Amino acid sequence: MKSHLLSIFIIFLLGITYSVMTLSAQEITSGKADLSAINVLLIDGQGTHNWRETTPVLERTLEETGLFDVTVTTTPAEWESVADFAPNFMDYDVILLNYCGALWSETTRAAFLQYVADGGGLVLYHSANNAFSEWKEFQNLLAVTAWGGRDADFGPYRYWDTQMRSAVQLATDGPTGSAQNHVEYVIQSIMPTHPIMRGMPEKMLHGPDELYAHLRGPVENAPEISLLAAAHSNPETGGSGRWEAVLATTNYRKGRVFQILYGHSGSQCRSVAFLVPFLRGTQWAATGIVTIPIPEDIPSEDKSYIRP
Ligand code: ZN
Repeated sequence: MKSHLLSIFIIFLLGITYSVMTLSAQEITSGKADLSAINVLLIDGQGTHNWRETTPVLERTLEETGLFDVTVTTTPAEWESVADFAPNFMDYDVILLNYCGALWSETTRAAFLQYVADGGGLVLYHSANNAFSEWKEFQNLLAVTAWGGRDADFGPYRYWDTQMRSAVQLATDGPTGSAQNHVEYVIQSIMPTHPIMRGMPEKMLHGPDELYAHLRGPVENAPEISLLAAAHSNPETGGSGRWEAVLATTNYRKGRVFQILYGHSGSQCRSVAFLVPFLRGTQWAATGIVTIPIPEDIPSEDKSYIRP
């Protein structure tokens, strides 16, 4: 009887070992661990920005690494026609949002949230942080947000205090979203141990570009936010005088969300201080790890560099 029980126990252990091995094999072939084929769904079609110019630049920047396979889906241009927009999010490792337009249907919104909650990656590029102010649950994806008729109900002002070396949350009324004139500015790393930031210079010069300010977040009971980098919004050029968020992440249930808040137009998306965190952040959102190396043309704090 004892030897019979021992046999059952050994079979049980072998079963567990086999299950773990099988799971590992499935993960390796699922695409999420296969770094040569990260499937990106880039959504555009409506917005306050020139997405017709920036989408091909983002697509080229991703595909020239050889690591990403980008599918672009463009919503109808007419506001009311977006009701039929229903991509199959589950076919992709990461969704890249270059969209700030009409609200999707309830079915598409539910599928999108389910995709992220189940572990799908999401990248919110520049003006995507202005999107969907009327969609309550969307706010939980955002580290920081602005415009779209938002007010203090969308969270406190959130920015970086360089002296205190901590994120500041200031609950007060005032504008939600502003942008300084297009100037060069330094991207200051504030979380160098995060996989996206690891190995990147502490300071990189970027621009000339727009820099968002008076950003708010998080809403009450929102998931945890990590501010990865900030830039000084200079009051002499129309800025807030604060160090504003430029790179951030959130975790929405099992999903990873990466937010890159600069890169107003096509040439600014070819700035190395934009494209390196953009590529690494997209890989992180899709897979949870970052293998894209820091290139030799990474800028210093004194000189920006824009690739052709
Ligand atoms: Zn802009």
